[in-house]
Amino acid sequence: MQPLKIQNTLTGKKELFKPITEGFVGMYVCGPTVYSNVHVGNVRTFMSFDMIYRYLLHIGYKVRYVRNITDAGHLTDDDAEDKISTKARLEKLEPMEIVQKYTVDFHNILQKYNLLPPSIEPTATGHIVEQIEAVQQILDAGLAYEVNGSVYFDVLKYNETNDYGILSKRKIEETIENTRELDGQSDKKNPQDFALWKRAEPEHIQRWNSPWSEGFPGWHLECTVMSTKYLGNQFDIHGGGMDLKFPHHECEIAQAKACNHKAPVKYWMHTNMLNLNGKKMSKSTGNNILPQEIYTGNNKILSKAFSPSVTRFFMMQAHYSSILDLSNDALLASEKGYNRLMEAIGKLENLEVSKTSSVDIIAWKQKCYDAMNDDFNTPILIAHLFEAVKFINLINDKKETITKADLELLTKTLKAFVYDVLGLKSNSQGADNSDKLIGVIELLIALRKEAKENKNYALSDEIRDKLLEKGIQLKDSREGTTFTV
Ligand code: AMP
Ligand code: ZN
Repeated sequence: MQPLKIQNTLTGKKELFKPITEGFVGMYVCGPTVYSNVHVGNVRTFMSFDMIYRYLLHIGYKVRYVRNITDAGHLTDDDAEDKISTKARLEKLEPMEIVQKYTVDFHNILQKYNLLPPSIEPTATGHIVEQIEAVQQILDAGLAYEVNGSVYFDVLKYNETNDYGILSKRKIEETIENTRELDGQSDKKNPQDFALWKRAEPEHIQRWNSPWSEGFPGWHLECTVMSTKYLGNQFDIHGGGMDLKFPHHECEIAQAKACNHKAPVKYWMHTNMLNLNGKKMSKSTGNNILPQEIYTGNNKILSKAFSPSVTRFFMMQAHYSSILDLSNDALLASEKGYNRLMEAIGKLENLEVSKTSSVDIIAWKQKCYDAMNDDFNTPILIAHLFEAVKFINLINDKKETITKADLELLTKTLKAFVYDVLGLKSNSQGADNSDKLIGVIELLIALRKEAKENKNYALSDEIRDKLLEKGIQLKDSREGTTFTV
């Protein structure tokens, strides 16, 4: 097995990865709250864990990858609205219709970006019984209290014998901030306390019976219950975006320790944010771009459409723990790089072999693994892949030589990293029909541009009108032409 190192948020150190059970990795990643379309920021986080999942599989681990769907409306700690119910009212749908609609969207988008499905995808509403049991266990342990049908976790009591703040590196005094729960604030003994069960107000739609009230579980509880149910009381990796570190993951640790008297997770991993206009992309502020806007080019910051593979390549060019800024220029640069890489792979089949190699493929292969073993360093890996592009082109130009065995190794390794680990698809084989459609539309846009330059306005208008008949609308602007399908 490869000597893999992982940056562990819990210890703040890069540690040699040793799974609890040899050869097997249990990994849990917090999934989406399904009340609206996922934006590309969300996609980045799930894609980072997809790359991690793919690499663990590639180096030979058996992985049980659990990623949940948050389909029960919650009052998140600093936001006193239940987003699923609010959306249900707005769209005049049942909450479970909202959940279904956006779960389908989530799956479609992740499939487009070539993310592998997790091994188990449990839902919060499918685990209400387990959540009620966990609340009871925490009450029995003396670490929670009931007020008016709601149950709260007693953070200060827990902190007497445990370290609340162990993950987010906050002192107990610093944990008050961000834990305003406006609704029901007065019921709590201390502002740090968080809800395990909430009594439902009359207008709250999603509600279940419990020993305390007709209500609904607190947000943090579902992940504790579902992760330990499917991965055991102690498992290897727990991941999510940085913004979930506190309070969500801190609370998960506290709940799991209250229930099972064990720290639940060996390696906590957090991915960094995708920014737009210098600020975190976010559903609630509206500062976001939908994946659909990227692969159709239908957004004012974009000069054209970018295929899911180009977008994926753009994301893989940054380390998962670095902030990444989305911009048209960055996507254009990634597109160039991606095309160069794919062109080089296309040349592999026709390279001539020699008696000797002037390039050291074994050393190059090791450098690729070293990069990934160093906390999944995809930007360094990609730099090494471009070294391979360079020697493929030199061999093609007869300026370097390669033996048959080395060429086989180069081909196998390069394809494994590009397709299996980074999850890219080649332009020709892997692209699905919508990628091909985008390619055809782009071709027509280019031909129309040429027609216009030749003052053949009849043809350029015909292209625009015929596309419109097929439901494809072109939009011209100073930056270029975009389309909506
Ligand atoms: P949510 O549905 O809001 O719970 O978000 C789902 C996942 O996307 C969580 O792991 C978040 O941390 C992550 N996420 C939210 N915004 C961004 C962003 N701008 N960049 C990267 N990941 C994000
Ligand atoms: Zn979670």
